[in-house]
Amino acid sequence: MVVGGGYIGLEMAEQLRRRGLGVTVVEAATQVMAPLDPEMASWLHQELRRNEVTLHLGDSVAAFESPRDGEAARASVVVLKSGTRIEADTVVLGLGVRPEVSLAKNAGLELGQLGGIRVNEFLQTNDPRIWAVGDAVEVRDRVTGFWSIIPLAGPANRQGRIAADNIFQRTSRYEGTWGTAVLRLFDLTAACTRANEKMLRKAGIPCEVLHLHPGSHAGYYPGAEPIAMKVLFAPGTGRLLGAQAVGAEGRDKRIDVLATAVQRGMSVQDLAELELAYAPPFGSAKDPVNMGAIRGGSPALWRPASRPRSVLGSRSAFVSRRSGARTKAW
Ligand SMILES: Cc1cc2nc3c(=O)[nH]c(=O)nc-3n(C[C@H](O)[C@H](O)[C@H](O)COP(=O)(O)OP(=O)(O)OC[C@H]3O[C@@H](n4cnc5c(N)ncnc54)[C@H](O)[C@@H]3O)c2cc1C
Repeated sequence: MVVGGGYIGLEMAEQLRRRGLGVTVVEAATQVMAPLDPEMASWLHQELRRNEVTLHLGDSVAAFESPRDGEAARASVVVLKSGTRIEADTVVLGLGVRPEVSLAKNAGLELGQLGGIRVNEFLQTNDPRIWAVGDAVEVRDRVTGFWSIIPLAGPANRQGRIAADNIFQRTSRYEGTWGTAVLRLFDLTAACTRANEKMLRKAGIPCEVLHLHPGSHAGYYPGAEPIAMKVLFAPGTGRLLGAQAVGAEGRDKRIDVLATAVQRGMSVQDLAELELAYAPPFGSAKDPVNMGAIRGGSPALWRPASRPRSVLGSRSAFVSRRSGARTKAW
């Protein structure tokens, strides 16, 4: 039994399943992988079920109990809020990350509302002789501007280097965190960079949404698989706000390109100009990233239109892999 459908929970579920164990994942939210929007996470739900992982969404663990008569569980009977009882021989809790800040608190360092250590752009705490980095600090989300805790190895490493620069009086600013991340789940990979539609709606930031399903590489070369891509950008300016990709091949490369574009403040139409490596086994002469621009770069898509609302309420366009044309509006 794995409790929590975040990165760690899903990676554990995959590994336990690969070892031949029966695996159940319980997730309190109605989707796994919170950094993805629900329609993108649904690919992961499918992949889990395809691999015979039992999924309980929108339900949470209320208690661990001893087995009753007729129940067999070497570890515990896990009782869900819904009343469902699941017999488990092993329970893995992957319930999220909370900074352990007792040392900082005892040293009188300022903490933020999320419980992380507050630092300035030089990663300095309110005590100018003390710097803090990594999972324990609160960072500014670069798109929403909200304080966030984004426990990832890349930002922690960057922060470590920047804090060291500042300690040695080489002024260096931390620009913020974009939360670029990737997960492998059986035969699928899911990757994302910065704002998803849920975050943007919460922050009241308007966005346009593109859904694309390009092939991972040239269609005439064997083995191309569709990639589900979602690109979010600002109406009017076309400035990129975030992207998500789920698929069997080539999504991590696309997210890394899109992450670079988001971080450098590029607009959706700039994507059309990107010259990306192409040979048939790796991509297409019109790479999926270029395709985002070709559809999203159309000013018609930026104007308020009478298109139906997307799953989450913003306007979105759906581009099919086959024709590359907008075949359906959500
Ligand atoms: C199972 C797992 C898988 C992960 N996979 C990924 C991944 O694939 N990609 C990714 O981007 N991120 C991943 N992460 C997150 C990533 O590991 C963290 O974001 C990163 O390690 C944070 O770096 P850090 O230096 O802040 O903390 P840590 O790497 O945790 O280092 C903190 C160190 O400080 C030590 N310490 C704590 N208190 C004290 C004290 N009082 N005195 C002295 N030492 C102390 C700890 O023992 C620890 O060694 C994963 C995390 C986990 C748990």
